[in-house]
Amino acid sequence: MRIINPATEEVIQEIAEDTPETITEKYELVKKGQKDWAAVPLEKRINAIEKFYSLLDERKDELAATLTREVGKPLQQSYNEINGARKRIEYFIRNSARWLADEWITEEDATREKIVYEPLGIIANISAWNYPYLVGVNVVIPALIGGNGVLYKPSEFSTLTGLHIQRLLYLAGIPEDVFEIVIGKGAAGKALLDLPLNGYFFTGSYNTGKYIAEQTARKMVSVQLELGGKDPLYVMDDIDDVNAVAAAALEGAVYNTGQSCCAVERIYVQEKIYDHFVDAFTAQAKKLVMGNPTDKTTEIGPVSRKEQLALLEAQVEDARKQGGRVLVGGHRREGKGYFFEPTVVADANHNMKLMMEESFGPVIGIQKVKDDNEAVEMMKDTPYGLTAAVYSKNQARAEAVMKQMNTGTVYWNCCDRVSAALPWSGRKNSGLGATLSYIGIRAFVQPKAYHLRG
Ligand code: NAD
Repeated sequence: MRIINPATEEVIQEIAEDTPETITEKYELVKKGQKDWAAVPLEKRINAIEKFYSLLDERKDELAATLTREVGKPLQQSYNEINGARKRIEYFIRNSARWLADEWITEEDATREKIVYEPLGIIANISAWNYPYLVGVNVVIPALIGGNGVLYKPSEFSTLTGLHIQRLLYLAGIPEDVFEIVIGKGAAGKALLDLPLNGYFFTGSYNTGKYIAEQTARKMVSVQLELGGKDPLYVMDDIDDVNAVAAAALEGAVYNTGQSCCAVERIYVQEKIYDHFVDAFTAQAKKLVMGNPTDKTTEIGPVSRKEQLALLEAQVEDARKQGGRVLVGGHRREGKGYFFEPTVVADANHNMKLMMEESFGPVIGIQKVKDDNEAVEMMKDTPYGLTAAVYSKNQARAEAVMKQMNTGTVYWNCCDRVSAALPWSGRKNSGLGATLSYIGIRAFVQPKAYHLRG
């Protein structure tokens, strides 16, 4: 498998893929190791994760450089991701003991009752490339703390980062027969589906997620899916500072070159302030600096996968045909690297693919709406249900809209953010189950009910 730098198209490294046979060997190894790991006291398992937390900081220069090289993430954003992952790990370190402790329900009655949380066993984490540290940590850390063995398949586009994660976990004291990495593309992921594992935790696209759900349905084990989104942001007419809201919306749309699951993917603006907002948004989008992701000033890097360029081009072309005004960008950049200009399409509507299908790139459509009711109707017109954001001075008015969203997350006067203390979940085509928060700690254990007499 060739690992390619998306900014230069150079081959960084060639690496051998796992085969179904080597994946089965890894599974057999972890099957043996997991039992001992589950018997290690919780406090000691957490100690190893604390060491991993420190190593991420000590090695951050090397880790950030690798991440930028293999996915094209602007370097400062690679550092931000590693710091963000450490914050999530800190949450798990501080809170796991509380949520995994035995829970007494009745201690006084003749029959005493308690809940004991046991590991699921051996789980697979099939992961995405866009935030390999963040989405990896959501699963791998609580799974290990919970006493599980893990077969971790990083995306083929973030393999080197996956190998760093493996190396640092081993250095931190996680035994090699408890955590194994599986290298490869879709075929390696498929081989994991054929093994008798106790849970499948997936982050990636809707199509692959649906396939995984179908293939694992007969196994009767935990399956969690964190999938794509088409997240709306609505700007009400009562906002004070149009420039500030435009800046926040733009950042939500193009951070990580638009390749965030919870990126702002479509914007609705109330008609009274529509022209003002579009002007402010466009002026700021024109100033975005696209270029070499290792430069400190770069805000927009290449997209990570070459195929995305054609998809973005097709969305912009379709939008143009349906009456969209392309005010900024609209094209891939000539020359080496998978660069696509930050692109703003005004006068968007729901006949456009740009407003209906995940873009996963630095392009955004802005649509005019007459009032909150029309905004709600448009925001809900999607097969996805990850996040939705509302900007307004009035909390009650914003919450009236947020309440109607069929999404796992809603934002008032913020967007494109994840908190370790809150559950991260998608509805409809955006996923099944939740990670993070106490729910994301308990997702990797199963309750056993004890009825005790005598
Ligand atoms: P993808 O579905 O192409 O790949 C995800 C993983 O699945 C990779 O490791 C891949 O090798 C593996 N895979 C591919 N085919 C498989 C198969 N048939 N069987 C088993 N495994 C298989 O997704 P991607 O391009 O890596 O990620 C981008 C998508 O992920 C976007 O849609 C994004 O919105 C979503 N995402 C969601 C979240 C979230 O928290 N909801 C977070 C990050 C990314």
